[in-house]
Amino acid sequence: MSQTCILPQSYFGTDRAQMESRIAAAKSRLGKRLVILGHHYQRDDVVKYADFTGDSFKLSQQAASRPDADYIIFCGVHFMAESADVLSAPHQRVILPDLAAGCSMADMAEIDQLEQAWSELEEVFDGTPPIIPITYMNSSAAIKAFCGERGGAVCTSSNAQAVFNWASARQEKILFLPDQHLGRNTGYSMGIPLDSMPVWDPYRHMGGNTAEAVIAAKVLLWKGHCSVHQRFTPEMVDQVRSKHPGIQVIVHPECTWEVVQKSDATGSTEKIIQVVRDASAGTSWAVGTELHLVNRLAEESAREGKLVISLEERGCLCSTMFRISPAHLLASLENLVEGRIVNQITVPEETAHWTRVALDRMLAIC
Ligand code: SF4
Repeated sequence: MSQTCILPQSYFGTDRAQMESRIAAAKSRLGKRLVILGHHYQRDDVVKYADFTGDSFKLSQQAASRPDADYIIFCGVHFMAESADVLSAPHQRVILPDLAAGCSMADMAEIDQLEQAWSELEEVFDGTPPIIPITYMNSSAAIKAFCGERGGAVCTSSNAQAVFNWASARQEKILFLPDQHLGRNTGYSMGIPLDSMPVWDPYRHMGGNTAEAVIAAKVLLWKGHCSVHQRFTPEMVDQVRSKHPGIQVIVHPECTWEVVQKSDATGSTEKIIQVVRDASAGTSWAVGTELHLVNRLAEESAREGKLVISLEERGCLCSTMFRISPAHLLASLENLVEGRIVNQITVPEETAHWTRVALDRMLAIC
């Protein structure tokens, strides 16, 4: 039986050495019945226990590739655990060590807001909007399912352009959510002018647009963003270039269009890691993504004679991902050892079905 719990206070007093040995003991008791997934943005003292690290989609696939694991502990945020539940086998249980680990971007698109937006679009287009809804992986299962049920798909930051191309070949327009920046950067890289991509504000009637603007649009961009990546500014790019002549700037496409335009390269977390790892010794990089990933890349690169720094001097932290501490991980493990499944993430079957449809479309496209 699954339970929900707040972390008992006793776990916070555990010292580091004790924590390590108890985590190791619980892992060894659970053996092959357990797999721990750690997102790239996860803190070091948690990610070191992960069997797999990666971005959200890669991790969900890895979970599916371990059918012998009854328990999947997802050290990430809520929408990632939902995707793992959808993609894993029915007997597998997905656990999020802290239920408060959400994603501010995913929370910016709620299913009733999307249903309202769609009914307003149906009014404009006499019942059948010539629109394919596409959602970024960073959205709730309910949003993914809505897209799947209406002929749409999911995309990641690596395959957004391929999914946009697929959608554009089938329909006049795309409704992209929840990240306006990834949508704008993707559309622009395909030659879609900025003024053909109006923003849809879910708190305003018709998203704040006139019917004429919606009819003229190629892409409607949901008004959502990542609170981490939106903190990088074009001025930071100028400052880092003047402070470190010759430095190359690489940013995630969740950054604003202005930042992406000023950068030397853009790409998903996996691509950023690849580009920096493949770079020659002596090169230097300012990276516009989450602090923990940048710090690990910096450490690894320093050993190879490369300089890696955050584009934002102090670094941008994903505070919700940071909620998952070693204490939360330990509590999840010890609960499992005791036979208690706590903080399980379950997607209702009908939502899971349409979510799988949207994810399968993406896999068929890319
Ligand atoms: S980095 Fe941004 S998009 Fe990723 S989990 Fe954190 S808030 Fe969400």
